[in-house]
Amino acid sequence: IPEVRRHMDRLAADGIDVVRVTYPDLIGTDRARDVLLEELTRAVEHGLAFCRAVYHTSPQGDVVPVSGGLDAGLPDIAVRPDLDTLTPLPWEPGVATCLAEIVDPATGSAAPESPRDLLRRVLERCREHGLRPVVGPELEYYLCEPDPAGGWRRYARDPGVVYTAGLRADPDNHLLRTLRQVRDLNIGVISGNHEFDGGQFEINLIHSDALSAADRSFRFKAAIKELARREGRLATFMAKPFNDSGGSGFHLHLSCDDTDGRNAFDDPSGAYGLSATARHAVAGVLAHAPALAALLNPTVNSYKRFGPDTLAPWLIDWGLDNRSAMVRIPPERGSGARLELRLGDASANPYLAIAGTIAAALLGVLAGEEPAAPLEGYGYDTARSALLPTTLSAALDALEADTALAEILGKDFTTSFLTYKRNEVERFQRFVTDWEFTEYAYHL
Ligand code: GLU
Ligand code: MG
Ligand code: MG
Repeated sequence: IPEVRRHMDRLAADGIDVVRVTYPDLIGTDRARDVLLEELTRAVEHGLAFCRAVYHTSPQGDVVPVSGGLDAGLPDIAVRPDLDTLTPLPWEPGVATCLAEIVDPATGSAAPESPRDLLRRVLERCREHGLRPVVGPELEYYLCEPDPAGGWRRYARDPGVVYTAGLRADPDNHLLRTLRQVRDLNIGVISGNHEFDGGQFEINLIHSDALSAADRSFRFKAAIKELARREGRLATFMAKPFNDSGGSGFHLHLSCDDTDGRNAFDDPSGAYGLSATARHAVAGVLAHAPALAALLNPTVNSYKRFGPDTLAPWLIDWGLDNRSAMVRIPPERGSGARLELRLGDASANPYLAIAGTIAAALLGVLAGEEPAAPLEGYGYDTARSALLPTTLSAALDALEADTALAEILGKDFTTSFLTYKRNEVERFQRFVTDWEFTEYAYHL
């Protein structure tokens, strides 16, 4: 294939001899295979065979395929490199990396659990209505270091470090080094800062079309985890890793361009300086929030991040420049008019989180409903707004019941996702935790 040949010649000239072909699985983990450059043509033509399953981690730490629903005898999926996404891996000389598509070898078309394909389908629906979503992702994570007592502990634990840069809260200069390294991955990194809690960081990516935003968020998470390992550390995007500090969010900024490339969310003469499209999008996100939680807060642990006074949401509400609301409207208008959905946590699969958010916003636009009056002041008053789901199980029920959202996401995808996540809930329900021993063992 001449086009593949061209890529291979260019890579060889750049001293690349291995291509790391990486794809997002259903839960957003980066799965990959290192392919010798001379084998790239075969990989593009036939795809790389992987076992069709999503994997969970057993209590022993082993990765185990989940059976049922998704698979019958764990057959193959074909993973096809997308050579347009090729980029050198700056910290691994001789290696370039690219994203890949998950194809069902039986049909030759995208597998239902392909997160990239799901997002493309949702974007196609937006295009039919003359809208092109623009997404800006913000990701928070914790850095951990080996605990001399065993396991991992937070890397730097001094209090009062939010919005600082430099060695005070980051004695080994992790942030500065990491920021430069991920910049060289060409994923539109803007800036980084220390977050609220010791060992917690945030790095922001530039806004763009939604597929690029999801691709870049996915690559960013993979890179941060890899770079931490190279320092002998562990970076985690899990929602709420520690009892004594806040969770990690995945805030999504969303606006939509119209067919003329103008921001369809801006209207100086509209209520709050927002267009009807923007207000309807907010209403859609609020209306579908319980189901969205399943996608944006997809783990048992996610629901421990929510709560009053956390800066993570707890109630289904919106507010003008109000960080205690689930949907915040940042103060900019004009080309910067947008909503910030603060619901998601960093553990979410970026493709599913972005696809779900856009699908809910689109449903709102199509329904044409106005949101209730925005929250003013303190945002954690249960008398004023409905509560978000408090467990993964409740969120999965909401997703299953939300037929309008499921229709846009696709029935095959929703079934696969629910099967995997119900299994996760069941395994958790059977597992005896440390909390139970501490709470009960000594006096019962
Ligand atoms: N860490 C908070 C969350 O879980 C967000 C803090 C912030 O506003 O940056 O969403
Ligand atoms: Mg933050
Ligand atoms: Mg934010």
